[in-house]
Amino acid sequence: MFHALVSIKQVPDTTNIRIDPETNNLIRQGVPTILNPYDAHAVAAAVEWKRKLGGKVTIITMGPPAAVTSLRECIEMGADRGILVSARQFAGADTLATSYVLAEVVKEIHSKDPIDLIFFGKQAIDGDTAQVGPGVAVRMDLPIVSYAVKIREVNLEQRYVIIERKTENRNEVIKTSLPTALTCEKDIAEIPYASLPDLVYSLRYEPEVWTAEGPITFDAAQLGLKGSPTTVFKTGTPEKHTAGEVIKAADLGVDGVVKTALDKILAVEGMASMLGVQK
Ligand SMILES: Cc1cc2nc3c(=O)[nH]c(=O)nc-3n(C[C@H](O)[C@H](O)[C@H](O)COP(=O)(O)OP(=O)(O)OC[C@H]3O[C@@H](n4cnc5c(N)ncnc54)[C@H](O)[C@@H]3O)c2cc1C
Repeated sequence: MFHALVSIKQVPDTTNIRIDPETNNLIRQGVPTILNPYDAHAVAAAVEWKRKLGGKVTIITMGPPAAVTSLRECIEMGADRGILVSARQFAGADTLATSYVLAEVVKEIHSKDPIDLIFFGKQAIDGDTAQVGPGVAVRMDLPIVSYAVKIREVNLEQRYVIIERKTENRNEVIKTSLPTALTCEKDIAEIPYASLPDLVYSLRYEPEVWTAEGPITFDAAQLGLKGSPTTVFKTGTPEKHTAGEVIKAADLGVDGVVKTALDKILAVEGMASMLGVQK
């Protein structure tokens, strides 16, 4: 039987993002949240393969109690089990501390109910680091296929998976052993409409909550702020570029356009000497 695990993050709707000028952290209070869009596609892919092969999909998330709404959304899409990992001690975690907690949770689930594929989104649309998936894979000593756009084959008997991944100018096809981790682009699967039974099941579904007290024991030094060596010193908004000047051939003629453009280039400080031109 196929067992997929999807690690999801509830994120602030990025149309509403604001930064606290004192702490340089995101202001999360009072901001509407959504299931990270890449993670939604990862869940869709996991459910698609569960339906092909038979088996189950487990969802995990580390976040505040409100993250249960995202877990329910995944159950609505056809996932079977949801686990919220939530405790005061986890707050303020950077990607190192986040991947530590998630890796410990995945190891525990895997020890009781072996996992074939561990899905992540390509990146979270708030933190945007794309580090958590690879971080968990490295901690578990698993192969990782990033930027996955298609799962071509999952062979449970011979224990391999064939995944297509996006690179800058072409796609690569990777064959690797199971279990493996992958980070997903949106192309990995279309988000399906919820079926009525899944919808009804999700409404009554109560996700499990795992805390710092159990069912697993964490190393307190690696949790939350204490376990996070990243410090954000400064944040800012990039300057808005003003629209470029248009030199119209219709007004100046071709010679006029070339002359005007050259004058402007040579007017830039240091440009004339760099080009060896006398003004
Ligand atoms: C000093 C500091 C303090 C911070 N405090 C907080 C805080 O209090 N609360 C907070 O939410 N963030 C906090 N963050 C941000 C937090 O570190 C990152 O959001 C988190 O580690 C994930 O990184 P990312 O968002 O870049 O995810 P990425 O690495 O871009 O995410 C890739 C994928 O990993 C998975 N993933 C990411 N995060 C989670 C998660 N939490 N649970 C399950 N799967 C996940 C998803 O599949 C996601 O698509 C803090 C960051 C710093 C530097």
